Amino acid sequence: MKYIELGLTEAVDLVRKGQVKAEEIVASFISHIEAVDREVGAYLTTVPEQALSQAREVDGKKHKGRLAGAVVAIKDNIVTRGIRTTCGSRILENFIPPYDATVIERLKAEDAIIIGKTNLDEFAMGSSTENSAFFPTRNPWDLDRVPGGSSGGSAAAVAALEAMAALGSDTGGSVRQPAAFCGIVGLKPTYGRVSRYGLIAFASSLDQIGPMTRSVKDCALVTSAIAGFDPRDSTSAELPVPDYLSELESPGRPARIAFLGESSLQGLSPEVAENYRQVQQIVSNLCSEITFLDFPSWEMALPCYYIIAPSEASSNLARYDGVRYGFRAPAAELAEMYQKTRTAGFGSEVKRRILLGTFALSSGYYEAYYARAARARQAITAELKAALEKVDFILTPATPEPAFRLGEKQDPIAMYLQDYFTVAASLAGIPGISIPCGLTAAGLPLGLQILSRPFSESELFKFAFLLENSLKFKNNMYGIKARGRRKNEN
Ligand code: GLN
Repeated sequence: MKYIELGLTEAVDLVRKGQVKAEEIVASFISHIEAVDREVGAYLTTVPEQALSQAREVDGKKHKGRLAGAVVAIKDNIVTRGIRTTCGSRILENFIPPYDATVIERLKAEDAIIIGKTNLDEFAMGSSTENSAFFPTRNPWDLDRVPGGSSGGSAAAVAALEAMAALGSDTGGSVRQPAAFCGIVGLKPTYGRVSRYGLIAFASSLDQIGPMTRSVKDCALVTSAIAGFDPRDSTSAELPVPDYLSELESPGRPARIAFLGESSLQGLSPEVAENYRQVQQIVSNLCSEITFLDFPSWEMALPCYYIIAPSEASSNLARYDGVRYGFRAPAAELAEMYQKTRTAGFGSEVKRRILLGTFALSSGYYEAYYARAARARQAITAELKAALEKVDFILTPATPEPAFRLGEKQDPIAMYLQDYFTVAASLAGIPGISIPCGLTAAGLPLGLQILSRPFSESELFKFAFLLENSLKFKNNMYGIKARGRRKNEN
């Protein structure tokens, strides 16, 4: 039996019943990673020995946790005690954290097994994983294309069957967009639903950790395990966490749906536009109340995000000064050391964001940029929340186009446009999930984004589950391209 193809929920069930050993599952993942990751490049670090010993421990337990034997990959901006955490940056290349992020503690407490740390755009800034300081990750569906970003390593690992599930982080779309590019499910939870403690900060008012999985079911289970109040994150919400998995199949009331009207649908590739129309057909068979909404402030979301996120980043990244963490450039005196460390330690996109953010926050420009962006954020949030009073879900394409080729987007603005559909939910703090909703003629996956009210993840999962069943997306292509390329090379 090919354990790597087992769904997370099925695998956990077998391990908990004692029918399959976690150790055997982990061993099959290790050999598959060895076989394909040379091509895919999903991992920056793997911890096979540690994973095997964790698995043996789980096998020996009488009472096994809710994620017993689940093989999980972690985006390398989430700190793991004793495991190198680079954030995709030279500046943290040799940083070994002394503690686990809350999400890691929670995964371990449920007997999940951490298999490795995945590649990302440096400090989660980007949409293709090409901004990693180490190497780009490739899309398992087509190795000449990007997996999306910034959680591209996590998405590729799940799609190429190199993990059952992964954690990513989403500041402006970094879970949802790579999930769409790789044909998997990705959730950005409501801001405050999942603790950020131990997530290396990019833009703190936007950052959320989210699961990336092969199915809605798996996503619901992993979310239940990682969500919930954490006194170490002052922005985490003090609300109970439902058992999302068991609620999945309970009957929901008929949903009211909104699709985006023409004016909010700019720059779509013809394939995405066609797919979005097909999804409307399918949804209209499931739901009777469907409307088309125009969001006048939707087009403000992208420029607003690209002021707010870099502003927060410029402040968050000030801590990398060569004194406290990781890399330090040799220099004769302190100011020179700061300068050399930051010049050599950060890549060009990170420097661009620090410059943009510092400029937007500087006295004289603050009113014109940051304060205006903050007001725009309020307008966008009010508009989305008002719409979500009238409808239960807003359905949008997850991305304006399918996965693009490596090296194709040299212009930063072209890269930023990737986030056209995802940033609004980030600014408003509402939850959003991306589920696979079709393939292009060339066989590239497309994603559908579903947005809902704050803390309504349970309803979101239910509806996504219903749609997943109707869309009948075939995920049996996972990893085939990677394996095919390997065979041709040999
Ligand atoms: N692509 C967006 C950016 O570059 C989003 C990144 C993210 O969500 N971490 O900022």
